[in-house]
Amino acid sequence: MAASGNGTDGSGGDPALADFPERAPASRRWCFADQLGPHFLDGPDQPVLLIEARSVFARRRFHRQKAHLVLSALRHRAAELGDRAEFHQVGTYAEALDRVQEPLSVCAPTSWASRDYVLRRAGVDVLAARGFVTTQAEFAAWAEGRGRRRLLMEDFYRDSRRRHDVLMNGAEPVGGRWNLDEDNREPPPADGRIGVPEPWWPVEDEIDAGVRADLDRWEAEGLVSFVGDDGPRLFPVTRAEALHRLEDFLEHRLGAFGPHEDAMLAGDRWLAHSLISPALNLGLLDPLEVVVATEQNARDRAAAGDLLPLNSVEGFVRQVMGWRDYIWHMYWHLGRDFRARNHLGAHADVPDWLTDLDDGAVDAACLSGVLGDLRRDGWVHHIPRLMVLGNYALQRGIDPSAMTDWFHESFVDGYEWVMVANVVGMSQHGDGGVLATKPYAAGGAYIDRMSDYCGGCRYDPRKRLGDDACPYTAGYWAFLDRTRDRLAGNHRMRRPLQGLDRLKDLRAVVEQEADRGTTPP
Ligand code: SF4
Repeated sequence: MAASGNGTDGSGGDPALADFPERAPASRRWCFADQLGPHFLDGPDQPVLLIEARSVFARRRFHRQKAHLVLSALRHRAAELGDRAEFHQVGTYAEALDRVQEPLSVCAPTSWASRDYVLRRAGVDVLAARGFVTTQAEFAAWAEGRGRRRLLMEDFYRDSRRRHDVLMNGAEPVGGRWNLDEDNREPPPADGRIGVPEPWWPVEDEIDAGVRADLDRWEAEGLVSFVGDDGPRLFPVTRAEALHRLEDFLEHRLGAFGPHEDAMLAGDRWLAHSLISPALNLGLLDPLEVVVATEQNARDRAAAGDLLPLNSVEGFVRQVMGWRDYIWHMYWHLGRDFRARNHLGAHADVPDWLTDLDDGAVDAACLSGVLGDLRRDGWVHHIPRLMVLGNYALQRGIDPSAMTDWFHESFVDGYEWVMVANVVGMSQHGDGGVLATKPYAAGGAYIDRMSDYCGGCRYDPRKRLGDDACPYTAGYWAFLDRTRDRLAGNHRMRRPLQGLDRLKDLRAVVEQEADRGTTPP
């Protein structure tokens, strides 16, 4: 029996936010491809339903390595479960569900559309969502807390740390500060070396070979089309691999993570990042276990005299139990219409060269480098996403919803819930300041400070006019000019907008950038 909302659960009557039951151990558990860890089951012997539906890949033009990762993870889980799993490889979900003759339960899936779908199916019990540190009921209680006017990530994060006793000394945060972010904005090291070993890489097996052959065949038959390169699988598809990736990070990379987490290096795209977001978003790791393991690792090492920098430990914990959870909850809290928010009136199409990840078409060293990494790996870390790719789209007025689709399709860890709040809200300021108090727009000076791209670029980050004018620097001023009226009421934009009035060549810069538009810079 499908759960249904009755308007008394704080969901405003939206069935996709109903107060779902927690467990249904007697049923067969239908696990979506992003619900593959043991924490999506109610017991070690619970029977499972897994569905590989080709229609998912036919609907969108995903990165080739994302399609590989999802299929490989599903097939590995089916192999691991053996007889416990009914595994259907079909055209659509409905084809598989019509074949199942027993009661099913499913943890509430991760998008509005998929929740609507499971709620419409008779014979499917929908349970509370899993895979996040804070439950939807806990978030609702926090959001409705007395005197809460704004839902700030920082407040949410502190509440979650207190509730789960993470990095706490009694009632106080370890080290006396909740947030050490200001220690985590160092530029890249001058010698271009971050000083950590290569990440651990998984080894492909015969399941991967089968996935590769199927994707090649589907593409040749015209059933699907992809962007990005095929290549050796870089991200975990089993729980064992995911745990290995986490352990490798905690042992060898965590200490160096914090200070340079915002830096970009042309020759080192991994830096000291954990590379666990795809495994988290496939549901292979429970984020609370990641946080607990991180704190335990830091405490064990401190006891042995190997003190990890607190800004690294806290910075990583904040990414996992702060930002990731906050983005998830805001996706639901802001409602179905949030995706369409477009406060800055940005309506340009995503240009073909961006859709195709065609880094060769681009001269701008930063954008070309980041796009090339994305084409090759399906992944770049949060700063290239926000300050190179997102910043470009923001400056050029590309439609936020179209950019959300682009991020969802191009990244191996991209899902609807991750990208709507991150792209429409954080990156494109489509919400007018609900998630971020000011737009993440920056000129070439920021990229020059935080990367080594500008030295090898044909543009000059200091120039806004002329053949060698940096498209980010010129684009920044053209962006402010275009959005001046819509940003005028934002006190954090007062100084940048005043700066606009001091530019004697503003009209020429605006004309130059209008001519450039979204042609490859
Ligand atoms: Fe990017 Fe401008 Fe620097 Fe070139 S000069 S790498 S376009 S920021």
